Amino acid sequence: MAEEKTITVDMLIQKILDGEKQYDLSKIVSAFELANKYHDGQKRESGEPYITHPMAVAYILLELGLDTDTLCAALLHDVVEDTDCTLEILQKKFGSDVAMLVNGVTKLKKVETFTKDEQKAENIRKILLAMSEDIRVIIIKLADRLHNMRTLNYCRDEKRRNIAHETMNIYAPIAHRLGIRSIKDELEDLSFKYLDPYAYNEIEKQMNLRKGSRDQLVEDLKEKIRERLEKDIHPTPAIEGRVKSNYGIYKKVYRDGKEIDQIYDRYALRIIVNTVTECYNVLGIIHDMFRPIPNRFKDYISTPKANMYQSLHTTVIGREGVPFEVQIRTWDMHRTAEYGIAAHWKYKEGVAGGSSKDDQRLAWIRQIIESQQESDDVEEIVRAIKNDLAPEDVFAFTPKGDMITLPVGATVIDFAYAIHTEVGHKMCGAKVDKKMVSYDYQIKTGEIIEILTSNVAGHGPSRSWLNICKTNEAKSKIRLWFKRERREENIFEGRSALEREFRRNMIRVPEDELEEFLKMDMKRHNCDTLDDFFAAIGYGGVQLSKLIARLKNEYNKKYGEKATAENQPEKDIKSATGNSAGIVVDGVEDCVVRFAQCCNPLPGDEIIGFITRGHGVSVHRKDCVNYLNQKDDPAMKDRWVSVKYEGTGKKPGYFKCTLDIIAVDRIGLLADVSSALAMINIYIYESTARELKNGNAILSITVSIAGMEQLNNVINKLKKIKNVISVERSGR
Ligand code: MN
Repeated sequence: MAEEKTITVDMLIQKILDGEKQYDLSKIVSAFELANKYHDGQKRESGEPYITHPMAVAYILLELGLDTDTLCAALLHDVVEDTDCTLEILQKKFGSDVAMLVNGVTKLKKVETFTKDEQKAENIRKILLAMSEDIRVIIIKLADRLHNMRTLNYCRDEKRRNIAHETMNIYAPIAHRLGIRSIKDELEDLSFKYLDPYAYNEIEKQMNLRKGSRDQLVEDLKEKIRERLEKDIHPTPAIEGRVKSNYGIYKKVYRDGKEIDQIYDRYALRIIVNTVTECYNVLGIIHDMFRPIPNRFKDYISTPKANMYQSLHTTVIGREGVPFEVQIRTWDMHRTAEYGIAAHWKYKEGVAGGSSKDDQRLAWIRQIIESQQESDDVEEIVRAIKNDLAPEDVFAFTPKGDMITLPVGATVIDFAYAIHTEVGHKMCGAKVDKKMVSYDYQIKTGEIIEILTSNVAGHGPSRSWLNICKTNEAKSKIRLWFKRERREENIFEGRSALEREFRRNMIRVPEDELEEFLKMDMKRHNCDTLDDFFAAIGYGGVQLSKLIARLKNEYNKKYGEKATAENQPEKDIKSATGNSAGIVVDGVEDCVVRFAQCCNPLPGDEIIGFITRGHGVSVHRKDCVNYLNQKDDPAMKDRWVSVKYEGTGKKPGYFKCTLDIIAVDRIGLLADVSSALAMINIYIYESTARELKNGNAILSITVSIAGMEQLNNVINKLKKIKNVISVERSGR
């Protein structure tokens, strides 16, 4: 990156005179003089006079084509904060617009430093609010940040990282959403350079190595295309070569795991024409000249991106099999693509009233402010900004043809909530292009999505959706629902509490008899279903401590002496392992063996057998509560026999095993767990997630496991996932 050149007042004036746009030059010069007077004697960290900074900011804004008042405000943007100059002085000399803009920038500056988390959140909210008031405030702020980033090497090390981080997370996405591509690319590249200097240098090196051949290739292609277009399109369209930004390459190389030479749009050509019809004509010609790569064509003319970007994109294979991207657009679209919201000033003589209230690009700002009104969670807000400003959006359609725009990675859940809150709450499934998909299905552009809803009373979102959905909108709606109706969580809590109490009291009622067993208590508490009863326990309407003594009596009466180890519910070993049970019972041959369901032993566990009356030997873990409680009972002592797993040579059987994962709650946890398991070919039968009181999450997954060794492997894999605190077998 070139050294930043110092902008002088003569350069600024010359640039204004060279341009076509009308400016009030004397007003700008007197703004400069006032700023120069107040900043006199102040120095930047580079040692240069302070005035060079507002000068550079004004120059950037001039390049973007902003108006006289914005340039004056840029020159004066630091005087109120850093000098004795007051807003009243500015108001008197330059009018209320300039004063208002400077005030907006000053307010933003006051909260700029990253200190406490609440302050960070507040900072972001202020940025959003300032933007929604007058968009020029944030454009000045972006130019200010850009110049500070260009001169960041003069800054202290840790401060540098903080600023780069904030720029990458907040300012670059905002520039992107406002469509100001030049600022966005430069902010990203500069932040990237400070956040990951190693990768930055590596990419710079790699790109330089390829520069010669790349430039030659692009020149050849341009020439070839120009020759052909000259014949068919008049006037001949402009053709530009385009190099992908370093950060753009970094994302593909480091994030998507591509090789530099695999990046299709590393080489790109841009063809700019006069009319939309010509766009499609040029597309036809390009596809005639070169072979298009399937599925790489995107029509952002008929469906513009959320930041109003429009173009046709296609990737074709050129000479020698090198793929390259071609972007085709009109001049009008080109201006929007390069300058975004700033094009209002550059090409349309500003916007009525100084702000563009009807601009779609402003609608999302208001949306974020509304959805973040109550949140103090910085991570959440940053996530909201980044997600809602994700570099790419996808567009999908309802069966009626309404288009819904969502960030990349959004799932059918996000889609449902984007249609309507109630559709989200009632969702019970989704079809994409008429096929059923799972909840975590990620939407792709152009798909038709039908949300299936349930009208069953009490149906609502699942807590695990919070880990699946991507948009802030869906998340806050789901949270709200749980705030109102925590039924699902209550059921879970209630059921676990009951199971815990039962275990403690050695009550073991088979699942299908549970309802019958609890019937009386359910009736007494007006609960129609078991879930109602669990929910009542969960929210405290039913106090277990008051029931348990009686339930235990009842249990002993009803199940009597059966309540011993021999009648623990068991599953036939054959169902789990086929005929090769893999268990050898001490001194007994050909004996029927079952695994006790109370502890679900796995190969590799320390095990013990219990000779049942008529059901063969039931196998328990040595740390099973039932074994520990009964092993010393003289009446049963002789019925415990030692058993062991047979050695190798047998095909391993598969066992279901439930693992409790406790983790710091975060988005994508479930996704990370499932992909970690998928990598080692472990299939998840079931998963439930809930939030713990301390903010952590507990995720219970049931998987199929071949043995102890594999189980340990799985547990180790899971423990390595970011934010995972512990992984344990359930029900120990
Ligand atoms: Mn500044």
